[in-house]
Amino acid sequence: MSEIVIELGSVWLVGAGPGDPDLLTRKAEKLIRAASIIFYDALVGKGVLELAPQSAKLVPVGKRSGRHSKDQRSINDMLVDAALAGKRVVRLKGGDVGIFGRATEEMDRLTEHGISCHICPGITAASAAAASAGISLTLRGLARKLVFVTAHAKAGEELDLDWQALADPKATLAIYMGKAAAATISRQLTEAGLAGDTPVLLIENASLPEECQFSTRLDLLALSAKSALGDGPALMLIGEAVRQRRVANASTSVSILTPPVRTLFG
Ligand code: SAH
Repeated sequence: MSEIVIELGSVWLVGAGPGDPDLLTRKAEKLIRAASIIFYDALVGKGVLELAPQSAKLVPVGKRSGRHSKDQRSINDMLVDAALAGKRVVRLKGGDVGIFGRATEEMDRLTEHGISCHICPGITAASAAAASAGISLTLRGLARKLVFVTAHAKAGEELDLDWQALADPKATLAIYMGKAAAATISRQLTEAGLAGDTPVLLIENASLPEECQFSTRLDLLALSAKSALGDGPALMLIGEAVRQRRVANASTSVSILTPPVRTLFG
């Protein structure tokens, strides 16, 4: 296995995957081991952080919706300061760096200061969730389009999405940060023409030991999200592809579709 050396004073934005350290790329692991300082988000798995060398300084800059511990500008400044101090900097982000990860803001700031930065991709939550549930996100003829969409609205602002475009029966929607907006998502997609019985899978803590999956349908989404989801990060998968689900981990799986398990086993 080749070694990776992080140049002094440079920054690697590294995708930490969905939480399970076994879902890290080999490159990400090497970079973590080579870092002298690691700035990490709240969603980075504990097992991933345990790979950091004793000598590395671990700095939480955790962002969870509504509970920002550091604003983006402070994070940018911390990265710049560490790089200018000649450290080998790793910026660890949950999932993939380039998916709802605000990577561009950080890279813009670093390059303004002439700091070299690089990206190491990671497995995004949608891929991990689909894998756990035993589904394919695309389906020949039935789900030809896969849409990654965030349902996070800025505080006090309406969720501004193109619902007509999203309400495509031949698409799979992977909705990130959608818990708080579950009722809006259900109403808007139904009003835009998507059938009420379109299957939905809610997955919380994908890839972690506490993972929980919940099958429901579009018209029951608001109630389901409220009753089934806890405090962990959760993803919604919506569309016909979800109906092809094969249960990978039945002990964490609940369904309120009727009949509940026929589509799963038969
Ligand atoms: N860059 C990340 C996404 C960051 S946005 C990625 O590629 O996965 C944060 C959102 O991602 C969470 O609110 C949740 O919707 C989703 N998410 C991240 N990790 C998750 C996990 N282990 N299980 C389910 N959803 C997850």
